[in-house]
Amino acid sequence: MIIVLKARVQEKQIKEVTDKIAKMGLKPHVSRGVDRTIIGAIGDESKLKEDQLKAMPQVERVMPVMKPYKLVSREGTPENTVIKVGKVSIGSKQIVVIAGPCSVESEEQIISIAKAVKKAGATLLRGGAFKPRTSPYSFQGMGEEGLKLLEKAKKATGLPIVTEVMTIEDVPLVADYADVLQIGARNAQNYNLLRAVGKVDKPVLLKRGPASSLNEFLMAAEYILAEGNHKVMLCERGIRTFCTFTRNTLDLNIVPALKKETHLPVIVDPSHGTGRTDLVTPMALAGIAAGADGLIIEAHPNPPEAVSDGDQSLTPAQFANLMKAAKPVARAVGRTL
Ligand code: PEP
Ligand code: MN
Repeated sequence: MIIVLKARVQEKQIKEVTDKIAKMGLKPHVSRGVDRTIIGAIGDESKLKEDQLKAMPQVERVMPVMKPYKLVSREGTPENTVIKVGKVSIGSKQIVVIAGPCSVESEEQIISIAKAVKKAGATLLRGGAFKPRTSPYSFQGMGEEGLKLLEKAKKATGLPIVTEVMTIEDVPLVADYADVLQIGARNAQNYNLLRAVGKVDKPVLLKRGPASSLNEFLMAAEYILAEGNHKVMLCERGIRTFCTFTRNTLDLNIVPALKKETHLPVIVDPSHGTGRTDLVTPMALAGIAAGADGLIIEAHPNPPEAVSDGDQSLTPAQFANLMKAAKPVARAVGRTL
């Protein structure tokens, strides 16, 4: 930790800071400049109470040297994490494509879209049975019935299932059916839920909160790893900005930034990131070019009939075109699809 003091502080004030650092169990190292004094605190940074130092009137700035996240950091684990789900390796050279409807609606719907996305090359099936909806009057999902239909679609196609869990109480039930547990954007900082999925032996797809910074996103993942579950993939799904021509702003800046900061796989969701069918394919291609390890795409047999997110869902034909267009992009960045 580096502590920058205000200009023209007195010796007595410097001593107050060095005494405090020593009391916290670290070794202070003072360096006096012409009009600034900087103090380095050497030792176990976790013992330092940053807020207490910041609260001292003679302190201008406190700068940690270590990253606040430990387990998710590439500093600690330089090799990419590869998560195996069935035959799929997420975080490997191969780009994974998770596709399916926003919500599971009926047996016919989920089986028909599962078959269509599989035929086009998707490797995992998505579908929500528990839906986090902005309005309490909107369709809330089929619940366990929806999970049973996902299981049928898995039997029919062999595609592993990615589905959302919204509450701690539902974790055992959803984990019974899901191959990957999805934590939705609205729950990205629900620390008790993050802890609960951290105790389960199932991969987790953690979505970025609509207002989460890179640091908050990684700290959310840290909660899951800290409980023992290291199989976490991060999903950029758009953040809220002043741009209103899209539902969210897909922040592709974060993809290479995450790949630098963490060893965890990164997935891009251009469906929620744009909210517009016409923008999904171009942004999916951009996501691959930016270095994503996979995509999650909403597709529906008949989007105008969808009970949720029809306006951002691709038809089977549009999805097949996306897959075709993505191949040369993946190849250009040294990946396979
Ligand atoms: C979804 O995947 O359908 C969903 C609700 O996503 P998000 O949590 O990113 O809004
Ligand atoms: Mn959706």
